[in-house]
Amino acid sequence: MEISEIQRDGYEKVVRCRDGASGLHAIIAVHDTTLGPALGGMRMLPYASEDEALFDVLRLARGMTLKSAVAETGLGGGKSVILGDPRRMKTEALFEAMGSFVDTLGGLYITAEDMNIGIPDLEVVRRKTRWVTGLSRESGSSGNPSPYTARGCLKGMVAVLEHRFGSPDFAGRRVLVQGIGAVGGRLAEMLKDEGAEVVVSDINTDRVRAFQEEHGFEAVADEDLLDVECDVFSPCARGAGLNDDTIPNLKCKAVAGCANNQLLEPRHADMLRERDILYAPDYVINAGGIVNVAVELLPGGYDEQVAIQRIDRIYDNLKHVFEIADKEHISTSEASERVAERRLAEARAAKTAS
Ligand code: NAD
Repeated sequence: MEISEIQRDGYEKVVRCRDGASGLHAIIAVHDTTLGPALGGMRMLPYASEDEALFDVLRLARGMTLKSAVAETGLGGGKSVILGDPRRMKTEALFEAMGSFVDTLGGLYITAEDMNIGIPDLEVVRRKTRWVTGLSRESGSSGNPSPYTARGCLKGMVAVLEHRFGSPDFAGRRVLVQGIGAVGGRLAEMLKDEGAEVVVSDINTDRVRAFQEEHGFEAVADEDLLDVECDVFSPCARGAGLNDDTIPNLKCKAVAGCANNQLLEPRHADMLRERDILYAPDYVINAGGIVNVAVELLPGGYDEQVAIQRIDRIYDNLKHVFEIADKEHISTSEASERVAERRLAEARAAKTAS
């Protein structure tokens, strides 16, 4: 087993992890631990090169710092990536080796589920390190984060409705949910319960049919998504959906969804602002899952009631972001970065003073 440092400005620690016996090639990035240990998921993808994997892990680790700072989880930001095809390369030896590498960081980095990594994989990682969160409820952990992410998004949408329409009421509001998977599907159900008029879209047509039959939702094909007139567009599928091609054609007044990295580029937040479309920054509104997981690390261990109280603060966090954006005449995206950077700067100053 071999671990080597990769120097990157602005990152506390980045390590390359290689294990010949299991074939593991991974990178762990710790961006910032000013506010607490760096928590972020582990993903596995067949990256074309180590540079591509490094780019991904650095970007994601910084994103986790911002997300946790705004959500006040008491955590810092980090992420890990395993290079390889998850369909062919997953073995117990690989995840045990990954667990050993995570353990060498002594709790500076705490891992969790992410793309192509599930609870069974993390159970194997757990054999070698205790720095793992998001395991099953039966094992005393916080379990599947998706319903909590959906709840946080719903609470965030209340702030969006108030700010954009002057009323928190969902009744009569038309909400288009793109992607009715673990998070979007739950969100769509909750929106219906709140009295919203829900329109769903998903490339999985069987799932759409099942939801239509169960809930009577209106459905639109993926290619017709931009033709839908609605109050709120809620991207809950993939990233980069807000871009030069889509933004000029959106027929909504607000964007508020759970998908990560919704903006193709930061400037797309300004494009939305110019079109008077209120954008709920993705990492602010989709923080319910990380807030839930963070509760595991509290001295008393996981407590769902505590988690829910904290998740519901996403409403306040978004209100704060919208107020700053209005006051400073900046995009909501820039406003949320300012909130995060200010919290980090204050914590750094307090540490230096003590
Ligand atoms: P999921 O895989 O359960 O669901 C995604 C759904 O989107 C699927 O039904 C899929 O068929 C559909 N989809 C994929 N591409 C699409 C497209 N182009 N158009 C329409 N539908 C499409 O994933 P999830 O856990 O629900 O996560 C959804 C998004 O939310 C992801 O971007 C994820 O990173 C983000 N997110 C999830 C959580 C969580 O707790 N699960 C937390 C934060 C962020």
